[in-house]
Amino acid sequence: MKEILLCKYGELVLKGANRSTFEAALCRELRIRGKKFGGFTVEKSQSAIYIVPQNDECDMEGMFEAVRRVFGLVGISRAAVCPKTMDGIAEIVRSYIPPFLSGCRTFKVVAKRADKTFPLTSMDVAAEIGGVILSACPHMRVDVHNPDIIVNVEVRESAAFVHAGQFKGAGGMPFGTAGAGLLLLSGGIDSPVAGFMMAKRGLRLEAVHFESFPYTSELAKDKVMRLAKLMARWTGPIRMHVVSLTHIQEALRDNCEEDYFTLLLRRYMMAIADKIAGANELGAIITGESLGQVASQTLQALAVTNPLATRPVFRPCIGMDKEEIITIARHIDTFETSIEPYEDCCTVFTPRHPRTKPELEKVLAQQNRLDFDALVAEALAGEEISWIRADY
Ligand code: ATP
Ligand code: MG
Repeated sequence: MKEILLCKYGELVLKGANRSTFEAALCRELRIRGKKFGGFTVEKSQSAIYIVPQNDECDMEGMFEAVRRVFGLVGISRAAVCPKTMDGIAEIVRSYIPPFLSGCRTFKVVAKRADKTFPLTSMDVAAEIGGVILSACPHMRVDVHNPDIIVNVEVRESAAFVHAGQFKGAGGMPFGTAGAGLLLLSGGIDSPVAGFMMAKRGLRLEAVHFESFPYTSELAKDKVMRLAKLMARWTGPIRMHVVSLTHIQEALRDNCEEDYFTLLLRRYMMAIADKIAGANELGAIITGESLGQVASQTLQALAVTNPLATRPVFRPCIGMDKEEIITIARHIDTFETSIEPYEDCCTVFTPRHPRTKPELEKVLAQQNRLDFDALVAEALAGEEISWIRADY
């Protein structure tokens, strides 16, 4: 028996005149993901998308899992393809539908007949298939008002389909439809979640990771690459920029007051990120900051680092508690990797008494002890770029 995926999209249907652009982006993304699983055709009809395996070698399970992570879809049903005869439909219903009914006691059949040449009306199809289910599953009852599950029969031009229940899709907007942004990706819990949340709203992601070799290790960098790989299952491929802050951090250590180390470092990070964003046409910067989480994330500290960005800075975790962020990290499967114990450049030369209410003039006085622009340019000259793609 041949199975297909029937996908429903959400917010997109509100998109008036631009709707077709969004639909095209969604279908393109589904086709790209399908290539990895043996080749699927992706076709749109009204507000549904049909994903059809091209041959028996296609990996349906793999594709189903991948499609559940595609932004823009709200629901995914697995559907069986049936011959366009009542006997053919009934036979498939008997073998395919019962597993979907487990845990349910009541059902109703909804039939749709797009092919008006089909000899029975939708009502007749529903009544007949209802009877088939009642005899195959004697514990089930029909409840047309409030059923536990709906069994669908669709008679279309090419074939008939039956499906029951629906799996939740990833929601959000399709890949890249909101533009592109640069995620500051550390090895922690928050920044992968921040990237996920903005990709969900349709941003294509590039990421920058700051390392401080040899104060941070190759293992720490490897962990960040693995995190990006896990994220890419949701966000699509991520172009990764790695920039070393070693020289900057040593210069800060040797020339500036310890209390200001973290704030100054974060000003460098923001300035470098803004330059990378500018050079790569990325319209936004994304961080995993959460208000008050640590000294560098007080309102006053954010006010000192924010002005280095010349484009919008998105901080989707800003109003979230750690527990709420962790719930999402678990959902997207980055949590276990994030808690592996490797050092981050932010924890190298950390001040014992970081400023929580910094004043900009004092920060600038410290910053002016060094040639800020020259250090930024030097760090950028050593930038390494690679592509991170998901292993499904
Ligand atoms: P956690 O708070 O879970 O340790 P985090 O990723 O939030 O992880 P913070 O120290 O809170 O780490 O840093 C705040 C934000 O600054 C991060 O969310 C991230 O966007 C950015 N950041 C911190 N360190 C780095 C780094 N080494 N490379 C790139 N961005 C970083
Ligand atoms: Mg954090």
